[in-house]
Amino acid sequence: MKRLTLGIAFAVAAAFAGPDAAAQQKFLTIGTGGVTGVYYAAGGAICRLVNKDRAKHGIRCSVESTGGSVFNINTIKAGELDLGVSQSDVMYNAVKGEKQFKDAGAYGDLRAVMSLHPEPFTVVARKEANIRTFADFKGKKFNVGNPGSGTRASMEEILGAMGWKMSDFALASELKADEHGPALCDGKIDGFFYAVGHPSANIQDPTTTCGAKLVPLTGAYVDKLVNQWPFYAKVTIPAGLYPNNPQATDTFGVLATLVSSSKVPADNVYAVVKAVFDNFEEFKKLHPALAHLKPEDMVKNGLSAPLHDGAARYYKEKGWIK
Ligand code: GLU
Repeated sequence: MKRLTLGIAFAVAAAFAGPDAAAQQKFLTIGTGGVTGVYYAAGGAICRLVNKDRAKHGIRCSVESTGGSVFNINTIKAGELDLGVSQSDVMYNAVKGEKQFKDAGAYGDLRAVMSLHPEPFTVVARKEANIRTFADFKGKKFNVGNPGSGTRASMEEILGAMGWKMSDFALASELKADEHGPALCDGKIDGFFYAVGHPSANIQDPTTTCGAKLVPLTGAYVDKLVNQWPFYAKVTIPAGLYPNNPQATDTFGVLATLVSSSKVPADNVYAVVKAVFDNFEEFKKLHPALAHLKPEDMVKNGLSAPLHDGAARYYKEKGWIK
C-alpha cells in the first residue's frame, strides 16, 4: 500500500427518474459495516454512482450500516440484503461452510461481484498501556470485535494460531467498531483489533484524540497463517498515515469484497458493476482507501465464490475475463 491522500467527496444532484423508470422502480440495498469504517463509505460511493443513472435503470440503491462481513453474508442468504461487503477470508469460509459457517454449511448461492480495498489487520493500543507487540496484551483489556463482524472472525483465527484463548485477556470486550475508539480513549480498554481499509476515520479519531499507537502483527504464527491460506497477505500500514504514528506498521490482512446471491437478478448486479467501472476515476476519488484500486485486480483477486452472472456479463463485455 502506498501513502494515500484524501479524496474529496462531492454531492451529486439526484437524477430525475422518467415515468418509465419510476413505474418499475427497484430497490437495492448494500450491507456495509459501522459508519466510521470504510465499508459504509465504499457502499455509499457505489450507491451514489448507481443512483446517478436511476433514470435509465430504475434502481434506487441504498446502504445499510451493519455488524460487518458475517452478518452481511447471512443477511444476503436470508434475502434481506441484495449485496454486501465482506472480507475475503469470510467469503471463503461461507463458500466452504467452514469456521463461522460450519453450522450453516456451504453457501452455494453466494456470488462474488468484485474485490475492493485491502484490509490490514489493525491493532491499536492506548498510549499509556505500554504495548509494543500484540503479545503484550496478555492480561489486558482488549476489544476482539462484535459477533457478526469479519474483524471478530479474523481475530479468532489469529488467537487460535497463537494458542491464545479469550481468557488470556483480563477482558475480551465485544464492542462494535464505532465504539472501540472512544472506549480506548476513555481508558475502558487497552487496545482493539479491526480489519479495515486505510486511511479510516475510525483509526484517525483515537490516534488524534488520545495519541493511540498502531501495533505490528508479525511473528511465526503470522508467517504460518499467510503460508497456509490463500486470502492472507502481508501488508504495511505506511509511516505517518495517522497522527502520533510516524513509524511504518507491519501486519497482514485480507481484501474487502462485494458479494451477492445468485437469486439477485443479473440486470441489477450488472447495473452496479457498470456504475462503478463506467465511472471508475470518480469512484476512486470517493474515499481515499479506494484511490489505488485497479479493475484487473478487482475482477479476480480474493474472489472465492463464483462471479455473479451480472458481473461476469460486464467483465466479458470489457474483455477482462473470458
Ligand atoms: N472488515 C470489517 C468487518 O467485516 C468491517 C470494516 C469496515 O467497515 O470498513 O468486520
